[in-house]
Amino acid sequence: MINYTERLTLLMEDIVRRVPTLSFLDMADVLVFARAGRSNAEGAFATCHCLTLPASEPGYYFWRDRATNRITRRSEWFVTKSPTVTLGTRQIKYMLSFTLPRFCDQSLDRSRKEKFYSGADAWIAKLDTVVHELYHIDPELAGIRRIEREDGTYSANCHGHRFFEQVAGMVHTYLNSQPSPALYDFLREDFASLDANFGGVVGTSFRTFPSFPQRYIERLPEQLPCEADSEGVTVEPLRAVQQPTRYTDEHVHVRQFMRETSRRLIRKGEFRAA
Ligand SMILES: [Zn+2]
Repeated sequence: MINYTERLTLLMEDIVRRVPTLSFLDMADVLVFARAGRSNAEGAFATCHCLTLPASEPGYYFWRDRATNRITRRSEWFVTKSPTVTLGTRQIKYMLSFTLPRFCDQSLDRSRKEKFYSGADAWIAKLDTVVHELYHIDPELAGIRRIEREDGTYSANCHGHRFFEQVAGMVHTYLNSQPSPALYDFLREDFASLDANFGGVVGTSFRTFPSFPQRYIERLPEQLPCEADSEGVTVEPLRAVQQPTRYTDEHVHVRQFMRETSRRLIRKGEFRAA
């Protein structure tokens, strides 16, 4: 079987070695994992998830009465936090997720990036996505990279034309550096061909599948005073968080992805918790 997320990680290690703009990256800070996504359905091919953002300012949810516009109910105060993901002794700073099988079936035709790659093979769209996600990682490792405009100000849109152009530039830099085709050849094949040639496509995933580490809500242990309360507002308790907030190697597993579904792979001799 081909471990797709492992292949992507090896490819990214090579990319950050060869593309100066991405050389600040240490792939040991980055976890690549697989999510499910059908090829014939709309949706992202890949996503960059930042785990280094600090806790938010305290806030609460509230509901207004439509007629009077007054706040009638609010939740308790909370902050949102990033979960921690620690593999071995290393705390992961970013995660890049790829949707399988959808990503494997991505092609350049009629895509927004086609104009940057005239005459190129269709699989280049996948290499473009790989570089695209790496480029989202902020050089300060503190969030999603902000894109500087020509006039030196920052754009709130992290997906402007300039972003796509810069990504295409890095894809060309990489290919021109004559990397070993063994590192990127797997991108040439679509899902059906990989599945047939390797006897299956697997990838790193989380035991909580389809859920994965995401920002979560934490109730403020000391509730703050609230202006709205003078109007006789009902305060509703927050529900306890269902998903883990600290992930370790124990939460990671290998999953096989198929056209319509996926399943956890159990290694021979592996202890299986009830
Ligand atoms: Zn993006």
